[in-house]
Amino acid sequence: MCSSWSTTAATSVRRWCAISDVIELGPTIKHRSVSQLTTYAQCGESYRLSKVAKAPERPTAWSIHGSAVHFGIEEYELSGRDMTIEQAQELALDYYDKGIAEELEQNPDYARWLTGGNKKGETDIADRRALVSDQTKIYINYAEAHSDEWRVWPVGPKGMACELEFTIEIGGVKVLGYIDQIREYRDGRIAPIDIKTGTKDPGSAMQLGVYAKAIEENMGVRPESGAFFFPRIQRNGTLKGEVWHDLTLWTDDLLATEFSNFDKAERAGIYIASPSDFCRVCSQQDNCRVKGIPGVKERYAEITQRPQAS
Ligand code: SF4
Repeated sequence: MCSSWSTTAATSVRRWCAISDVIELGPTIKHRSVSQLTTYAQCGESYRLSKVAKAPERPTAWSIHGSAVHFGIEEYELSGRDMTIEQAQELALDYYDKGIAEELEQNPDYARWLTGGNKKGETDIADRRALVSDQTKIYINYAEAHSDEWRVWPVGPKGMACELEFTIEIGGVKVLGYIDQIREYRDGRIAPIDIKTGTKDPGSAMQLGVYAKAIEENMGVRPESGAFFFPRIQRNGTLKGEVWHDLTLWTDDLLATEFSNFDKAERAGIYIASPSDFCRVCSQQDNCRVKGIPGVKERYAEITQRPQAS
């Protein structure tokens, strides 16, 4: 029999809060986010087209798939793990079906849907629906198998650290983010977890480093490690599961430099195109000034400033 968990949940629930006395960035940019910085770092042109020029993106099922799995997992954890696998799957599938239906209304031509390969749009949508169900189940089975080892930390406005919103100041920049999950381990460790429904490892753990800083600012404890969690069975039949990262590399100074440089570059309208393997799954590939379709890409090529807020 294990000892009881050390956190006093009732105290912790109250402590998590958004920080309000941070810098406002001006009328058109309210804040930066971790995903903005990672998108910008991956390809400045893709960032410019999506965030600045607001060019229309090719539809994808994978983003709805990811959100649906996150939703099913969050609901399962918020239920205090009382929900059955089937109930969580039903919620995730309902979320997916609604998201796909809405997107199809805007983009009824399946040929426009990006699938990341030669698969047809409608086949990808059906395959991902099955994956939503599978990955929700994989997570729940995994969480229950390790329930004696870790639990989701009972902190935050929802009473459970799932999809936890934060706003902190990094390098003079207001940064908004959402942490998929903070785990509390039996040995007292606290760790941010980001759930990845895709196959690729992110090239950097900067995202987890920012989460560690947000946890420290809100809860007074800085996690030294964090993980990406892949609810996916690999070709060899094993679960990919957690990929851990040392977060001590992501010091306050390093994070401040990254966000401050990103902020300065965007204010100066600097967007560098970085053609790579990622182009294959880039939702802005039609509009891109390097890879785009002639006659289409020119529409957005000159836009380097966000529209002024009315
Ligand atoms: S197609 Fe490639 S180079 Fe062009 S915006 Fe997308 S990722 Fe960048």
